[in-house]
Amino acid sequence: MTDEAVANERPAIQLEEVTKMYSGKAGVRALQSVNLSFAKGTFTAVMGPSGSGKSTLLHCAAGLDQPTSGKVFIGDKEIGRLKEPLLTDIRRKNVGFVFQSFNLVQSLSVWQNILLPQRLAGIRPDKKWAREVLEKVGLKGKENVLPGQLSGGQQQRVAIARALACRPDVLFGDEPTGALDLKTGIEILRLLREAVDQFGRTVIMVTHDASAAAWADEVVFLADGKLAGKLISPTAQQVADRMMELSAG
Ligand code: ADP
Repeated sequence: MTDEAVANERPAIQLEEVTKMYSGKAGVRALQSVNLSFAKGTFTAVMGPSGSGKSTLLHCAAGLDQPTSGKVFIGDKEIGRLKEPLLTDIRRKNVGFVFQSFNLVQSLSVWQNILLPQRLAGIRPDKKWAREVLEKVGLKGKENVLPGQLSGGQQQRVAIARALACRPDVLFGDEPTGALDLKTGIEILRLLREAVDQFGRTVIMVTHDASAAAWADEVVFLADGKLAGKLISPTAQQVADRMMELSAG
């Protein structure tokens, strides 16, 4: 196998025996020996009761935080071995984020928001691709509008376009539909699904919502910082039942 083929075999993100402790009186173990891999071109939902370690998992998987022990690979790079500015570079080029609260810069237009990460990174923006992405998310014609003039769903579309404009391998969503009504939430989930199916991105999304999780190829459950099972091609009912069991346990 060529080096390139070997690299392609690797998952988009891999966690090996990842443990994360937070110091403090009780020394919280937010993640305990988690082994998990996210295959390229797949959509995974991460679920679990409050405090089960979902955010910690997302932050460690994205290289925003370092595990206390264990390894995290983004593509073929073990990020624990990387120092700044290489780590920043990997984060910029390989991962994108979509948050519940959109996190747009209110004083900049839609178009400026979309190009901002590339500008901040000192990369010349790929405007052709950015225009394609803008059209894809249904915001053509809104380039010069300020975020405050848009609905919540439209603002989340801008956030998705901003993330996709950087062509990240992995798109992380932290409750991306949490602030949206049902219909708008479905439009956003459809876009994330298309990011996987049409653009070959890998999407990892934390959610509390069983119907949102049912859009994923796989749901990973966490409880008390440990893996508590998976569901492949889940239905919303299966996800809701599993969540009930976890919350009861
Ligand atoms: P979730 O996203 O599932 O609600 P978190 O990953 O936020 O869970 O938290 C997992 C555990 O780690 C919880 O017990 C939480 O209180 C603790 N925790 C999270 N962040 C910190 C922090 N910065 N300092 C101390 N404890 C933390």
